Amino acid sequence: MSMQPSIENLEPSQRRQLRRERLKRKRIKRKRLQKKLIFFAVSVLTLFFFRSVMIHSGFIGKESGTSHVFEDLWDLNDDLLGTVMLDAGHGGNDCGTDAGAILEKELNLQITLKIQKKLEKKGVRVFMTRNDDTYLSRDARVAMAKKENPDLFISIHQNSFTDSSVRGMGIWYNEKKTIGGEESYILAKKIEEKIAADTQIISRGIVADTDLQVLRQTEVAAVLIEIGYVTNPEDWKLIVSDEYQERAAERITEAAVAYLMQQNGDELV
Ligand SMILES: [Zn+2]
Repeated sequence: MSMQPSIENLEPSQRRQLRRERLKRKRIKRKRLQKKLIFFAVSVLTLFFFRSVMIHSGFIGKESGTSHVFEDLWDLNDDLLGTVMLDAGHGGNDCGTDAGAILEKELNLQITLKIQKKLEKKGVRVFMTRNDDTYLSRDARVAMAKKENPDLFISIHQNSFTDSSVRGMGIWYNEKKTIGGEESYILAKKIEEKIAADTQIISRGIVADTDLQVLRQTEVAAVLIEIGYVTNPEDWKLIVSDEYQERAAERITEAAVAYLMQQNGDELV
């Protein structure tokens, strides 16, 4: 029920007044709608911006996102060199090889986080199988690699041996697998080249392997790098030091970037 008088029964001056009021109400309504639209647009842009920042800084993984539209926008906005999955060996209850004060799982994560930072600076999108002390089965690691399908997969470990004189960095790869076998060899060679060229790192060369699950079942170029031997006193001093970890991470990053550039048909760095 409306208490409003019909416009036909009013005096001309009253009609004008009524029209003015109606127009005023319409204007207010329109302004409110505009404000709502602007607020909505700003909210969407802000959410997108913070989400990008969080993904970029590793606070949230790609899988945390709910919208594929955002993923597509991310891809369009960033001129990516490629994608890399980094796999810090062990984690949680699985401590890896026992070396005393610092566990293998911790060393693996420290080095992997350093590689992540360096790769991201070079315009590489990085997926981490873990970025904290979480237990992950090998099946879970392989499943992640299959889901994200990165250009390459690098697993980081520390070695141990009964003979404490054995030391140095070694690279394992599987060239027998049908998908990514050949590429795994190329990647392993690239990493070895960079390591061998560094006078501060002892290279044990590349090792062909068909047993390691994360190499065998990932259908991409994949390597497992044993940074050093926890059973060798000289290696131990190096692998627990921030400086050496940075050095190793730098060489691995250089090799991964060179591999990606070669795959993209760009000039080698
Ligand atoms: Zn290990």
